[in-house]
Amino acid sequence: MKLANRVNRVTPSMTLAISAKAKAMKTEGLDVCSFSAGEPDFDTPDHIKAAAKQALDEGKTRYGPAAGEPALRQAIAEKLQAENGLCYGADNVIVTNGGKHSLYGLMMALIEPGDEVIIPAPYWVSYPEMVQLADGTPVIVPTTKETGYKITPEQLRQAITPKTKLFVLNSPSNPTGMIYSPEEIRALAEVVVEADIWVVSDEIYEKILYDGSTHLSIGAVSPEAYDRTLVSNGFAKAYSMTGWRVGYLAGPIPVIKALTTIQSHATSNVCTFAQYGAIAALRGPQDCVETMRLAFAERRQVIIDRIKAIPGLTCGEPQGAFYLYVDISQLGMPSLDFCNRLLDEKYVATVPGISFGTEGTARISYATGMETILKGMDRLEAFVKAYS
Ligand SMILES: *Cc1c(COP(=O)(O)O)cnc(C)c1O
Repeated sequence: MKLANRVNRVTPSMTLAISAKAKAMKTEGLDVCSFSAGEPDFDTPDHIKAAAKQALDEGKTRYGPAAGEPALRQAIAEKLQAENGLCYGADNVIVTNGGKHSLYGLMMALIEPGDEVIIPAPYWVSYPEMVQLADGTPVIVPTTKETGYKITPEQLRQAITPKTKLFVLNSPSNPTGMIYSPEEIRALAEVVVEADIWVVSDEIYEKILYDGSTHLSIGAVSPEAYDRTLVSNGFAKAYSMTGWRVGYLAGPIPVIKALTTIQSHATSNVCTFAQYGAIAALRGPQDCVETMRLAFAERRQVIIDRIKAIPGLTCGEPQGAFYLYVDISQLGMPSLDFCNRLLDEKYVATVPGISFGTEGTARISYATGMETILKGMDRLEAFVKAYS
């Protein structure tokens, strides 16, 4: 049997593979400290679960509109207006199977063979793969730790060609945790407008910020930027709802309509009662978000202090998400070897930088309990000492 060529263009998600290996070792009874997870370790807040249960009891178990429940689209539009300064109505929003599928749908709706999509590295593993699945060409722009792993306006300008269709912006970033300051966002918006390209802003970590940092959505910079912006977001990270599979894309109505047509043939609506949980997440009390953020903030400080005290490792102090991007280059070991040995020898799971498009780095997720963090950092320290 011959599979379609597009299958050969993509590789399975390496982050999911390492998480799976760590889970399998745990199941075997091994005492694994996992820093590989890309999801909050908290349970979904009770009032959100209650709303979904109530929706089930009320018979919200049938097909709904492909673009999402009108009440959820409306709630999302109001959120984007109130919190992000983006003037959207319900028609500007499509509810998708997680933020991941909003990005996939966007690539399908926007990208043609030969279109170039600019992706700064390190990047979230799925961006280049989605572009390839849509027959587009990912244009990877490497960044360095000197710029905080952020693309500069000059780099963006230089990467743009007549074939450029889209720029992928992710702040706060997975895998680095870095955020673009409002000034940096404004400078990038200027380039986007000048070159008249699209930008998709993946804002899934917008609520997980530290040290008083603020998040600016690129679409709120100017009317010209607004016209070229698509916002991807979801409930997974802010409300600890990863398994619910509810996300959304917001932007100009023709794009949202195109995505809706594609989605109507691909998945139809997102699980109906899960959408009612999402409505409760937006309309209900927000203190659960702050409680989780404070827990992340505490762990972040501990983990930064510990890493900085290990000779041979360096890291910045990223202002968002729940990741630390650690520079392991002094050990002179490929990142994949580092992560495999650390897992095999010390039962500590991390993700190699190579899966995010940079060498000499590893991603540490601190979406895990403090006990695991303390034990895991002890083991990491012993591991690095043995190799340096
Ligand atoms: C987790 C994540 C998403 C989307 O996750 P969903 O579970 O599909 O909502 C999107 N972008 C980044 C960078 C992520 O880390």
